[in-house]
Parts: sequence; C-alpha cells; structure tokens
Amino acid sequence: MLKIILQGHENYYGLCDIARIFFGPSKEVREDNMILCQDGPDIEIISRYQNGEVSTFIKGESPVRSGLESIPVKREVKRDLYILLSKITGRSFPWGCLTGIRPTVVANEEGRDPQKMTNDYLVREDKAVIACETAGAENRILEKTDEKQINIYIGVPFCPSRCEYCSFISSDAVKHLSLLEPYEKAVERELELLSEGIRRPVGTLYLGGGTPTVFDDRLFGKFIGTIADRLDPLPGAEFTVEAGRPDTITEYKLDAMKDAGVTRVCINPQTMKTETLTKLNRRHSSEDIIGAYELARKKGFDTINMDLIAGLKYETAEDLLFSVNKLIELGPENITIHTLYKKRRADISREDVLREDGAVDDAVSRSYGMLREAGYFPYYMYRQKDTGYGLENIGFSKKGYECLYNVAMMTDKRDVLSIGAGGVSKRIFENNRFERLPCVKDPIMYINDVDKISERKLDFWERNI
Ligand code: SF4
Repeated sequence: MLKIILQGHENYYGLCDIARIFFGPSKEVREDNMILCQDGPDIEIISRYQNGEVSTFIKGESPVRSGLESIPVKREVKRDLYILLSKITGRSFPWGCLTGIRPTVVANEEGRDPQKMTNDYLVREDKAVIACETAGAENRILEKTDEKQINIYIGVPFCPSRCEYCSFISSDAVKHLSLLEPYEKAVERELELLSEGIRRPVGTLYLGGGTPTVFDDRLFGKFIGTIADRLDPLPGAEFTVEAGRPDTITEYKLDAMKDAGVTRVCINPQTMKTETLTKLNRRHSSEDIIGAYELARKKGFDTINMDLIAGLKYETAEDLLFSVNKLIELGPENITIHTLYKKRRADISREDVLREDGAVDDAVSRSYGMLREAGYFPYYMYRQKDTGYGLENIGFSKKGYECLYNVAMMTDKRDVLSIGAGGVSKRIFENNRFERLPCVKDPIMYINDVDKISERKLDFWERNI
C-alpha cells in the first residue's frame, strides 16, 4: 500500500486526486497526516512544505526539489507528487497534474499560452493547445451573454430505461410511471412560486435531464407550454430541450417545442452502432436516431446537438470514429464528445474503464481532427474526476451555433437558477466569487417538499432573482 505523508501543508484533497489518477481511490487519514492508497506500491512518500519550499521524495531518500514558484503552493505539491509517481510508474497522463479545476480556467491564467501550460502543469501538448483554443472561444461566447440576465435550468430526472453506463440520478420512467404526473405538477408549482421573484430577463433556458421528452405527448405539451408562459424568455432567447433519447421524440412534442419557442434540440445517440445501443439498454436503433433527427429538421429546428461517448463498454476505438463519421454526414450544428464517466453507481468496472486506454485517447484525438476538418470548432470543455482514460468532454460547434447556456453554466461567471430535482443554482458575486445551492436529488422528496424547496431558493436569491 502506498502511504503519502503530508508535512507542513494540508492539501489532502489535491494529493488524493493525483494518487487517484495513478492508482484509483485513496483514503485520507488526517489525524496521522497521511493518505493511503490501497492499490499503490508498497512505499512511503513525504510531501513537504518547509521554509517556503516544496519537496516530495520517497522516505529514506534525499529530498529533490522539483517544484515551481510561479504556481500556488497547493498546486506545486500536486505537481511534485505527479512527477515522482510518473517516475515510479513510468506513466504520464494527458492532463498532467491538472485536477479539480477546469482546463480552460488554467489556460486563461496562463495567458492562453499552451507551452506555459505544458511546462507548469505537465499537460500534454495537444491538450494544452485545445484548452487554450477553447478558453478563447468560451471568453468570446461569454461576452455575448448579459450578466444582468438569468439563465434557467429545469431538470427532469426520468428516462425510458436506464443506460448501463449512467452516472446520473435518473429514475427509470417505466418503473416510475406513477411519478411523472406528480413530478410535472411539482415543477409547475415551483415555477408558480419562483416566477413571482424573477425580476430579470431570461437570457437562456435549458430543459435537461434525464430525458424531458419522457412525458407522454399530452403531459409534455402541458409542461413545455407552462414553462414558456411562466418564464417568458426574451424574444429569440436560446431555449434548449434535451430530447436525448430518440425513442421519446414524437411529431407532437416537436410541434409543442416549436410553439413554446424552443431554439435548440439535443438528440443524443451516444453511439451510432445499434448493437452497442441494445447492449447498453437504450432500446432504440441508430435508424431511430436518424429518423428523429430528420423529423426535427422537418419541423424547422436549425440548431441540433448530438452527443457521443468515447470509451463505451463493448466498443473499440474504431467504433467511435465510425459514429463520429456518421454524425458528420448528418451535419448537426453541435457535436459533443464525452469520455465515459464512471461513478460508483454505474455498472462498469475499473478494468473496463482502463481497457485499451491508449487506443481511446488516440481515437478521441482523431475524432477532434475529423470534426475540425468538417468545420466544427471546440467551444466549451470540462473534465470530471472519474472521467475514463484521464480525458475530457468537449462541445464542438459550427460557427454561430454555440450553446450560450453551456458556456454560461460551465464558466461559473453567470447566474443560473435551477428548477426541479437534482439541479444546482449558482449565484455570482464580485471578484469571481460564487455560491451554489443544490436541490434534493430524490424526485419523491422534491414532489413532497416543493413549497419549502422554493422558499429556500427565494431566500438564496434574497427573494429577488
Ligand atoms: S439517457 Fe442519460 S440520464 Fe438517461 S439513463 Fe441514459 S445516460 Fe442516464
């Protein structure tokens, strides 16, 4: 078991993140100033901050200083540990010692200079380049959003079946059919209570999930109509609906979306291989995806997003490239490439996630190249702690079709009001300070407590959103 002893600093969280990249989960033992990593080598490492200097070394060996004074100490201790563990294991990772912070935030801090990012955080060159480019795009898009406006997220945590890899709290609608109507009513109630306090123009609206189109035609029509009436977004405001699963998209729902002023629709295949979709419990084929896409086009939606996931169980790297190619042929305005995200809840083992990691890394890079050639550019990005292969998620867009909500939400620079179970409201203050207010994730608790939840939200916004 690997032991990391902290001396003169307390960055347990950051060092655990670095140990996790190499060996999986670790455990903090604060009373002994120690981090234990079950799957690490049988050695003790000292991470020391003393007399203004950082040093990291194997116990019994002489301290070698490899840190950088140009970065904050809490990041320097991570950098040092990363270098030592790389030497010990012979492994390095695409994002180097960058953890717990969005790559584009660091890219901006580093003056959007890829070389500096590589030097300071040991980020691989191609990743540093794409982070700096995406940071520039995020900055430009953010300027198009008005900080006086409010961005609103409405969550529907139900899906027609649970995908095998799902890491969200999303209830299988088939097993929870009886909850759909009460949930819809509860969201309507929250809208009624909160809309009194909404004094600011609604700049962007995002109806996400789960799968909001899981409601039947009648209920969906009522739901989306109420949202549009209550929130009254600015004319032409971006309004996205995640109609993620093509098996839930109907002509009636698309018409209802058009009537409500929806401007952007997400039809998310995740893969264009029907065999994989079946194995993942998605209950629709790649033909269904194409059918839903064509129907949305016929109804006049001119901004369509499609998500793919790299590193899916049952898939090879070539399968990802096949799906990217299929989407490029279809030509949606946005294509988002996610890398498989693993949480404890998901039914996928660490071995699966680590499977052929070099091949997935390479296929992801190749898919970026294909998208660029087809006229897409990266416009927002994020990483999650347990993203497989140490990679990232990147939204690509054709010029002029970028999703403002995604950038507003990701950059922590715009207010977001979240309605429904499981979302997080975010209030931005001066000097880049922000506060979050998470909502209960359990739909039953949400349905039962919606009045109290709405009160809490109004208090969070000091009753004036
Ligand atoms: S569609 Fe998304 S939220 Fe729903 S079960 Fe699948 S992965 Fe989870």
